[in-house]
Amino acid sequence: MPYAYDDQNIFARILRGEIPNRTVMETPHTLVFHDIRPHAPVHVLVIPKGRYVTFDDFAARASAEELVDFHRTAAAVCESLGVSPGAGGAGYRAIANAGPDSNQEVPHYHLHLLGGRNMGALLPPA
Ligand code: 5GP
Repeated sequence: MPYAYDDQNIFARILRGEIPNRTVMETPHTLVFHDIRPHAPVHVLVIPKGRYVTFDDFAARASAEELVDFHRTAAAVCESLGVSPGAGGAGYRAIANAGPDSNQEVPHYHLHLLGGRNMGALLPPA
């Protein structure tokens, strides 16, 4: 059972054009924009245009077309922002928070892409 989707979440409002964003790339199923509070020199958010709350919700329910579009767009952004190791970049970290234990702030699935500096340890030791 997926989380209930809240149509008033901030990314739904961005998708409806009610709130501005700094768009990096847009396709029929996917939007990529700069995070408003960047944690690294490169910090963008990749979001599906569909109503999905978390990574697992998206992975389970999205169409094959949406899934391919989302991931190919994320890959294109990694290359265009110069962080893709396969294209000579120094790398990046991809993070998807989901639910309370992850402190997910916005309940619309998004992939953080962070780069432009060394990202350090994944997490403090347990
Ligand atoms: P989460 O904690 O849900 O994984 O991350 C949500 C992210 O959305 C945060 O990094 C936060 O800075 C970003 N964010 C929140 N509100 C806005 C907004 O109105 N515009 C943009 N561009 N980013 C936002």
